[in-house]
Amino acid sequence: MTAIGAAKKRLEKELPPIPDSVPSAKGRVEVRLVKDLESCSGLYDPIERVILVESNLTLVDKWCVVFHEAVHMAISDSDLSATAGLTAEVEEHVAVCIGNYLVTQALSAKPMLRWPVKRRKGDG
Ligand SMILES: [Zn+2]
Repeated sequence: MTAIGAAKKRLEKELPPIPDSVPSAKGRVEVRLVKDLESCSGLYDPIERVILVESNLTLVDKWCVVFHEAVHMAISDSDLSATAGLTAEVEEHVAVCIGNYLVTQALSAKPMLRWPVKRRKGDG
């Protein structure tokens, strides 16, 4: 087994189950596990406000999809395609980039918010 395979196997035991919903600026969005999504592992539907995740994936991969689709949700909630001219192609690159970063933080043994930080003078 590769190091990545071993890490994934360990994470499968440590990660919580996929939540029923995720928070957003416009209210919680349902997360629904579905079988045999056509040609993708996940999807954010901005009309129904639901994130669909392929149920046949490993738990680690399901979490990656949830974070990726949550970025699409945040972009949609911010209406960036209308206000900033964000194309679908660029949006996909942004979702991959930020989704991967969020997963990295979430899976980190020491996520940024848990780093020991010296308080600066004047910080509350
Ligand atoms: Zn995407």
